[in-house]
Amino acid sequence: LNDSNVKVAVRVRPMNRREKDLNTKCVVEMEGNQTVLHPASGNLGKGDTRSQPKVFAYDYCFWSMDESEKDKFAGQDVVFQCLGESLLHNAFQGYNACIFAYGQTGSGKSYTMMGSVDQPGLIPRLCSSLFERTLQHQREEESFTVEVSYMEIYNEKVRDLLDPKGSRQALRVREHKVLGPYVDGLSRLAVASYKDIESLMSEGNKSRTVAATNMNEESSRSHAVFIIILTHTLKDLQSGTSGEKVSKLSLVDLAGSERAAKTGAAGERLKEGSNINKSLTTLGLVISALADQGAGKNKSKFVPYRDSVLTWLLKDSLGGNSRTAMVATVSPAADNYDETLSTLRYADRAKSIVNHAVVNEDPNA
Ligand code: ADP
Ligand code: MG
Repeated sequence: LNDSNVKVAVRVRPMNRREKDLNTKCVVEMEGNQTVLHPASGNLGKGDTRSQPKVFAYDYCFWSMDESEKDKFAGQDVVFQCLGESLLHNAFQGYNACIFAYGQTGSGKSYTMMGSVDQPGLIPRLCSSLFERTLQHQREEESFTVEVSYMEIYNEKVRDLLDPKGSRQALRVREHKVLGPYVDGLSRLAVASYKDIESLMSEGNKSRTVAATNMNEESSRSHAVFIIILTHTLKDLQSGTSGEKVSKLSLVDLAGSERAAKTGAAGERLKEGSNINKSLTTLGLVISALADQGAGKNKSKFVPYRDSVLTWLLKDSLGGNSRTAMVATVSPAADNYDETLSTLRYADRAKSIVNHAVVNEDPNA
């Protein structure tokens, strides 16, 4: 058993074209593991709490705002080194791992998780690195299988993004007595190389787009969950017996956090009738409850995992059997001050969550 806090990182994206054109002020500053949010405008009253700089500390602060600042700049490679490598290492030891990206729409969640062809993000880097490792370790007595699933949670409905039959039917979430919650009927496809995953991913991403009536609207409201299942089999060549370690890597690109703010910010009660994104709101409540437990405030506090599809499926990754990291993505621009402050606070809460990871080992598989 290995207890460890959720690792929390904050990443600030570059100014976009519009912000540059408008000469928007940058209100985010990073120094070491500190992130400072500066006041957005000079004419706030002394009593206004937004007139003071706000300082937060995180496990990692990724400055992706200005590439010309060579010493400070954190590109896709740095984010992978800090967050991806250790999770991969854990996965090979048989631990579950989870990374989720949280932040307002347009702040860089998808860029961080998926990235682009030229600037691949965490998912493609994790996948290629995973296969490099399996090839390195493959021996007569040691073998690996890799399977992937890809789903979207929209409006509390789960859709399979890799469904070979192409049906867009909503799938049901069920709970197995031992293995916990799972999506009934979700495809789980075996992959033998990074190329396999790549083509599956692009198929999946395509169906994500095709299914949307209004692409931006839907992708900002839906959660994309990419799952890699690594099975590591060790064989005793003399006795012929073998044992298995199975680990699950969940990579989650969350819906835009402005939805959570609109349905009642993290920690507040769900307002009646404003059920825009139950999963995101519930995630906030789960994080709050777990943070209170982690801080020793309320050990027996009820954690409402079952109240949403996302939190139910990620139950193990949140305060459970997993090594978990959260990347909170923010805009540097003054006009996003309120959303940025809310994201920084949300990330601050997540720091106190303690997970209890164990190796998923079945010596007599
Ligand atoms: P989100 O998924 O949070 O809505 P995106 O990842 O789509 O946001 O990012 C919005 C835009 O900003 C995209 O054009 C993306 O390429 C760009 N962007 C985001 N983060 C970065 C970054 N760290 N470096 C360069 N461009 C970025
Ligand atoms: Mg996105």
